Amino acid sequence: MNSEDREFDYKSLLTWFAKHARPLPWREHYRPYEVVLSEFMLQQTQVVTVLPYFARWLKRWPTWSDLARAKEDEILKMWEGLGYYQRARRLWALAQHLESHAISELPKEPEALMEYPGLGPYTSAAVASIAFNQAALPIDGNVRRVLSRYYRNTEVSPSKGQDAFLESKLLPIMKKIKRRRELAQALMELGASHCSPRQPDCEGCPLFKTCSMESVEEAMKFPLKKARPKAVPLTISYAWVENKGKVLLRQRPAKGRFPRQWEPPNCESEDSDESLASLMSLLSKRQLKKVSSVRRDFTKYKVTWNSYETTVPSSYKIEGFDFYDVDDVKKMSLIPVMGKEFNLKN
Ligand code: SF4
Repeated sequence: MNSEDREFDYKSLLTWFAKHARPLPWREHYRPYEVVLSEFMLQQTQVVTVLPYFARWLKRWPTWSDLARAKEDEILKMWEGLGYYQRARRLWALAQHLESHAISELPKEPEALMEYPGLGPYTSAAVASIAFNQAALPIDGNVRRVLSRYYRNTEVSPSKGQDAFLESKLLPIMKKIKRRRELAQALMELGASHCSPRQPDCEGCPLFKTCSMESVEEAMKFPLKKARPKAVPLTISYAWVENKGKVLLRQRPAKGRFPRQWEPPNCESEDSDESLASLMSLLSKRQLKKVSSVRRDFTKYKVTWNSYETTVPSSYKIEGFDFYDVDDVKKMSLIPVMGKEFNLKN
């Protein structure tokens, strides 16, 4: 039989999930608000990181209605450390939409969920299947990896063609079984455990007997990816400019990266010397002391944040920036990396 023709071995996967599912708080009652919150927080973020944020968030805003009435700055502050702040804003916008239209609960079907702000194809399918036990397949990187390996699917990943193929395999199964939410989560969980990108544990996997992969080495080649352009180096030099318990900051504009979050004076360039020279020029050539350097790799850029500090007299001014008390700054949402460093310093 062609590997793409076989039926997915959902029974073995469900048996494994019944024994090994992690006891996660949003799995206790499958309340839609909690499932939506978990899905927003889990995008690009690991479960272990999300857990304390999830607990704090629910304590502060236990319902859609509570969240709708929150202030943006407080929401961003609560999200600090999770990154990708757009997720927090979208979740808040969804809560406000529900509140302003007097909608007490989300619809169950993925197509209807997609009509709501902030809910794209993946999140709609995840909420429909996990919160409402509907036949919908949330295809994230984990699910794509498990299924493309299982079927030895040779389409480039991610692609619409591949997702349509995976749905054609799984949706008929989901329609005929009752344990749909378990199946969706089992696929995700298998991708996050045994069927990992770099070190799949095929021998311990519940799908080992029926999976198309003939070796761990072969599994590591799937899903097939398009070659990516090389990431470019980018240096961001920034300075904590301090005066008697106050720091110099400005709020970023409402459009673009990190909208309405706060930042100290900073300059970026693909050339690290130029980045520092621009910062020196912005600060009228003040003496700067280097504090730290942090490096992170993203798809397009390899970013290095170099942080400096200097003390200035109270008459010191830079256009667009103002001094704020350190205690007030602790309640403000600073942009990532800089915010983390500020919290450690103060
Ligand atoms: S047998 Fe290996 S490749 Fe196949 S699903 Fe399991 S871990 Fe993934």
